[in-house]
Amino acid sequence: MKRWKVKNRLFTLCGWAVLAALVILSPGQSVLAQEVPGDGPDVIVHIVRSGESLSDIAARYGVSAEAILEANGLSGAPEVSVGRPLIIPRSLSLPEGAEQVIVVGLGDSFDALAARYGVPVEALGWLNRVVNPARLYAGLTLSIPPAEGRETGLVRLGEGESLWRVALRSNVNPFTLALANRIADPLLVAPGRLLRLPGGETGGEALPAPWRSIVLHPLPLEQGRTGGLRVTTDVPGTLSGTFLARELTFITADGGLNHQAIFGLDRWTAPGLYPLTLTFQDQAGTVWTYNRLVLVRDGGYGSETIRLPEEIAAVLEDADLIAGENFYIQSSMTGFTPERYWDGLFLMPSTGVLTSAYGTARTYNNGRGLYSFHTGADFAAPVGTPVIAPADGVVVDTGLLDIRGFTTIIDHGWGVYSGYWHQSSILVEPGDTVTAGQQIGTIGNSGLSTASHLHWELWVGGVQVDPLQWVREEFP
Ligand SMILES: [Zn+2]
Repeated sequence: MKRWKVKNRLFTLCGWAVLAALVILSPGQSVLAQEVPGDGPDVIVHIVRSGESLSDIAARYGVSAEAILEANGLSGAPEVSVGRPLIIPRSLSLPEGAEQVIVVGLGDSFDALAARYGVPVEALGWLNRVVNPARLYAGLTLSIPPAEGRETGLVRLGEGESLWRVALRSNVNPFTLALANRIADPLLVAPGRLLRLPGGETGGEALPAPWRSIVLHPLPLEQGRTGGLRVTTDVPGTLSGTFLARELTFITADGGLNHQAIFGLDRWTAPGLYPLTLTFQDQAGTVWTYNRLVLVRDGGYGSETIRLPEEIAAVLEDADLIAGENFYIQSSMTGFTPERYWDGLFLMPSTGVLTSAYGTARTYNNGRGLYSFHTGADFAAPVGTPVIAPADGVVVDTGLLDIRGFTTIIDHGWGVYSGYWHQSSILVEPGDTVTAGQQIGTIGNSGLSTASHLHWELWVGGVQVDPLQWVREEFP
C-alpha cells in the first residue's frame, strides 16, 4: 500500500490556555462500576488531520487501510484529505445468530423490543444472554435475531448496498436514518433489511401513564457530545429532570403535552452508567417520577503533545490572565434563553480546512496542561476568509481578548452558545440578530495563535461540546 502524507501541514495552537483552567469542571461521578459492553463506540468517525496518512489512521484504530477505504466508498488514499470525516469500521461481522444490532432506548422494555422486531422474547434473551430483563439500560447494545412474520418497513437494503447509499437514495441524512432504526453500527446492517424512514416516530415503548413516550438521542451518549430528550405525556403538566448532577431545563409546548431538553456531556465524564431522573407534575399537582440508567461511552478522542515556544508557554503560568478570560467566556456562554432561534442542522462556520477537532487531550511542554483538551474545532484559512454564522441567533458579545483574540459570541437560544476566536475583524455588534449563512467576521491570527485560523466553540447547558456533531445531527 502506498504511503502518502496529507498536504497543508499547519500547526495551530488554539484554546490551549482556555483549557488549562477549565479542566476541573467535571460533573458527577460514575455511580456504577465501569462494566460496559465493549469499550468505545461501535462506529468511530475520524476527522483527518494535517500530517496524517491513511496508514497512520489505520494503525491507530487497528484496522486495515483497505477496510477504511471500503467503508467510506473510496477508491484510493488520495481521496483522504484533511478535514474529511472517515468512518472507521470496528469489526466487520455481526454476532452469530443476529440479523442486526440495535441500541436500547429510554422507555424500551424487553417485551416491547421483541414485539417491535417481530421476534420471540426467548430468542432475544437467549441471543443476548440476558439474565434479568428488568436490568435493560438506555444505550445497551442488543443483538436482534431474524424477524419472524410480517414485515412492514419502507426501504429495503439491497445486496451489497450500504446504509449510506440507501440514505442518499431516500434523500435522508444517514445519521438520522441510523438513529430512526436504532442501528448501533451502520456498517453492520445485513442485506435485505427493511429500514424505517425517519419521520413517523413509532415508539413501541410500553410506558405506564402518564408517560406516552420518552426518547433520548443519540444513543449511546458519548463524552463531550450533546444529548436531546423528547418526552410526551398523556396529560398536560410540567417536567423537570436531572442527569449527571445537572438540572435539565425543559421547554414545554402543545398545551403541556410535549417537553424537550438538550444537554451537554462534559468531555471528562467517566464512561459508565448514570441515573436519569424525570419528575412530572400534572395540573392537579400529582407527581410521577421516572428513573433509568443511561450509558455514557468514551468519545473516541485522541491525544497529542504540543511544543510551544517558551515565551508563549510562559503565559500558561499566568493563572490570573487565564482564569479571568475563562470566567468571562464561561459566564457569557452559560445561560438559558427560552426562545429557540436555530432550526435544523448547523452550517460549517468556515470554508477553511479542519485542522484540529474537538476533544483531543493535550499535553504541553514538560507535561504542563496535562489534563487539558481542545475545546472546539479549528479551521485553517488565510487572514480575511469569511466567518459564517452556522445558525440563527443573537450576538451576545464581541471584543478583543488576550488569549482568544477578536472574539464573537452568539446565543442560539435554549442554552446553546457558539464562539469564534482569533478573528481579524468582527462585522457584528452585541444585540444584532444573525441568520444562518450570514458573514459575521473574518478569520485571523489574533490573540495567542501561531497561524491564521478560526477556533469554533459550542456550549450547551454550560458545557463545552463537540460543535461538529451539530453539523450532522439535528437537535432538539
Ligand atoms: Zn482551537
